[in-house]
Amino acid sequence: IEARSVHQIQSGQVITDLCSVAKELVENSLDAGATTLEIRFKNNGLDLIEVQDNGGGISPENYENVALKHYTSKLSSYDDLASLHTFGFRGEALSSLCALADFQIVTAQANQAPRANRLEFEVSGKLRKTQIVAGQRGTTASVAGIFKRLPVRRRELEKNIKREYGKVLSLLHAYACISTGTTKENITNIYGAKTLAALIPLDLDLEFKPSMPTQRVSGEEQTNRIHVRGHISRPVFGEGRQTPDRQMFFVNSRPCALPQIAKAFNDVYKSFNVSQSPFIFADLQMDTSAYDVNVSPDKRTIMLHDAGAMIESLKISL
Ligand code: ADP
Ligand code: MG
Repeated sequence: IEARSVHQIQSGQVITDLCSVAKELVENSLDAGATTLEIRFKNNGLDLIEVQDNGGGISPENYENVALKHYTSKLSSYDDLASLHTFGFRGEALSSLCALADFQIVTAQANQAPRANRLEFEVSGKLRKTQIVAGQRGTTASVAGIFKRLPVRRRELEKNIKREYGKVLSLLHAYACISTGTTKENITNIYGAKTLAALIPLDLDLEFKPSMPTQRVSGEEQTNRIHVRGHISRPVFGEGRQTPDRQMFFVNSRPCALPQIAKAFNDVYKSFNVSQSPFIFADLQMDTSAYDVNVSPDKRTIMLHDAGAMIESLKISL
């Protein structure tokens, strides 16, 4: 296989769907210190996904590098990995987007505004062209024609675009819920006061014995602790609306997919004969050694080292 197709296949593992495009762009904006994000979709994202932020912008000496594979400004040494507080650190998202779509950036740092630079990239991620344009401090990243170079993936996306777009909106809601301001304010802004009124606070301290202790502290039995905080809907018995899109999970405030934890919550509601699928906003706060975010290139799958014991303890406490 040609090097170029290898790059495209690998990129397709980082950017798997519309959600991963939105996630990578939003996380880059948050990493850049943005407090306001504007996200535009044309044709449900098939034609264009654009994320505009008011973050710090990209420094001109990095224009050449930003979209090169493995370039990241967020990690200066391997030791940083453990203490890293940014979402990104692999330097794969922009390079993958160049391989899979027409990608461009408009960016300005505070001292450059109201001048900005538009950056266009080659499929390889190499900087093709820069041009001075008008623009305020911040970065706008535009992804046009996602998966145009992976025709099978493109057709698949076109076929399921309504559902995929719905998933993107739920993901964006999750980021919006955990952003600045209180969770309650955010839930009200996104879902309305009526939704908030139907919620009860979720505040659990779970302690459980790990099924496979990792470290033996001399003589003492090891205990793991997690703190689950958030809001869930008060059980409503009888007929209800299905709203599985209103279930958001976070690990240490980072939105992520936790299908096993979601199932545990839904099972408990079901066991009480609640037909309605609950609203769940649950942030699981735990030691960073209790999970691994590096299991998949798209970083969406988080591996909880002791999911089994954690879920048992959660089910009992709910
Ligand atoms: P990573 O986020 O893992 O560092 P990416 O490929 O997502 O890798 O981005 C590469 C680099 O581009 C980032 O490290 C950052 O320096 C720069 N960058 C990307 N998006 C933005 C943005 N919205 N604002 C400022 N810098 C950005
Ligand atoms: Mg990134």
